This record gives sequence, structure tokens and C-alpha cells, in this order.
Amino acid sequence: MYRVRLFAIRHSRSFEWIYHRVEQALVALDPVLSRIGYQRVERPVALVEKVVKSVLFDCKMCGQCVLSSTGMSCPMNCPKQLRNGPCGGVRPGAYCEVKPEMKCVWSLAWDGASRMKNGAQIAEVLPPVERNLEGSSSWLRVSREKAAQLREAHEARRTTIAKAFPGARKVEPSTAPLVEEPEAAHLDPTIDRPAGAKGGQG
Ligand code: SF4
Repeated sequence: MYRVRLFAIRHSRSFEWIYHRVEQALVALDPVLSRIGYQRVERPVALVEKVVKSVLFDCKMCGQCVLSSTGMSCPMNCPKQLRNGPCGGVRPGAYCEVKPEMKCVWSLAWDGASRMKNGAQIAEVLPPVERNLEGSSSWLRVSREKAAQLREAHEARRTTIAKAFPGARKVEPSTAPLVEEPEAAHLDPTIDRPAGAKGGQG
């Protein structure tokens, strides 16, 4: 497993690309997943995620995957589970203080990040791990959040256009012309009233 983990870090750029594609696919599937119910697909997706990521990254299913920010080196493999860089005890040759047979995950993280397109993300401070998310699918959570953000952005754009429409009409009427009401609507005082309204008022 350790060798595969090192392989993933050496090919972090390719895995970054694959991760991006998987995320895009899941975001595109959001309408289907919403219809089925995210709770229903949580277990099978989490199982697939666990199998794939355990083999490739020695994943511990923390539920808040940060591989894209850590050069594809899982920080949960650090014996101290540090999420924001190495402790002060890294041995010569970048070996771990607690497990001298393995390299410090943060030394590997910097190595992997240096090969990635968005490797600079490693400089961002990561939030502490939320233990209540342990075991859940990070793929589903992230793609669901992204899909919701896209929906909100789309809705905001629609609202902005709708608000801009009356303004555009004032400045340049031909860009947003008003449909003229029929002449009869102004002449016939009963035209807007419901059928029964005439009798009730009489
Ligand atoms: S950061 Fe969490 S979800 Fe990502 S590989 Fe490590 S344990 Fe698994």
C-alpha cells in the first residue's frame, strides 16, 4: 500500500486531473442523485470511495478529503494526524519521527503539490477535521455543495437580468420593448373584472 501511495504522489498531476473529472461527473449527475435521494446513494458511493482511495492513498475515510490541497498525500496517515504541515520532529531524510520506516506525509505532500496544477493550495490553512463526518463520502458531499453553488449562481444571474430589464427599457426601449395593451382595455371599464364581480357590486 505504501508503494502505491508513493506512486500516487509521484503522479499527483494525473490524479488531480482524474479527481476533477470525477467531480464534474458527480456535479452533472446532481439532478439524478437528488431525485434518487443523496441519503440512499451515500452508502454504496462511500463504499466505492473507500475501496478506491484505500488502495491508492491509504485513505482513512475522514469524510473531508483534502488530497487536492496536499499533493495527493493523505494527512490522515500522519501518526499525529496533522492537517496543516509537519511537526517539529521530522528525521533526517524527511522520515517520520513516530514511524521511522515511512517518509513524513507532509514532506511527500510538498513533493506532490509541486507537480500539481493547483499545487499552491497547499499554502492554505485547512480547517480541523470534523470527526462526525468520518466514514461518509467526501465525493458526494463536495459535488453536492458544488452543484448547490452553481444553482445559486445561476439563480443570481437570472435575478440580475430580471432587475436590469426595466432599467434597460428606460435607457434603450428597443432592447426591451413593452407590448402595447389593446385599446379596448382602456375603453371598457369592465374588462379587468372577474365575471361575477359586476353583480356583486351592483
Ligand atoms: S484526506 Fe480523508 S478522505 Fe482524503 S484520502 Fe485522507 S482520510 Fe481519505
